[in-house]
Amino acid sequence: MDCIFCKISKNEIPSKTIYEDDLVKVFLDINPISSGHMLIIPKKHYSDFLELDEKINNHIHKISKDISNLLIKKLNPDGLRLITNYGINQDVKHYHLHIIPSYKAKDNISNVDDIFNKLIKWKNSLS
Ligand code: 5GP
Ligand code: ZN
Repeated sequence: MDCIFCKISKNEIPSKTIYEDDLVKVFLDINPISSGHMLIIPKKHYSDFLELDEKINNHIHKISKDISNLLIKKLNPDGLRLITNYGINQDVKHYHLHIIPSYKAKDNISNVDDIFNKLIKWKNSLS
């Protein structure tokens, strides 16, 4: 299957990965809406949120809280949005959860490499 997020999960396409384990991978969005915009994907291909089983759903939920805490600690956002798109709103047909920080002050969307360097030290330290 020609799926870009399957390729990212197998490291066939590079990504700015913040965290990964057997089940999921978390990486910076290539075209961020705000500084620190991340995606959580299951490594296994599920087309959309309706296909997720309970086990992976629970794991993604846990990781989304860990990643949110990391973002709050390191980037000091004023808010966060967790978004899953579906149907005509979903461009990449491999399930992903967006974690999008919001900032009261104008966000000049930092360079993805700068954000990555701020967050990378915590790679693999979530448990
Ligand atoms: P959606 O499918 O929910 O509309 O959004 C897909 C998201 O994936 C977009 O925010 C887009 O910027 C991101 N994206 C698409 N291709 C890549 C890629 O190759 N690498 C990364 N890191 N993000 C991607
Ligand atoms: Zn896929």
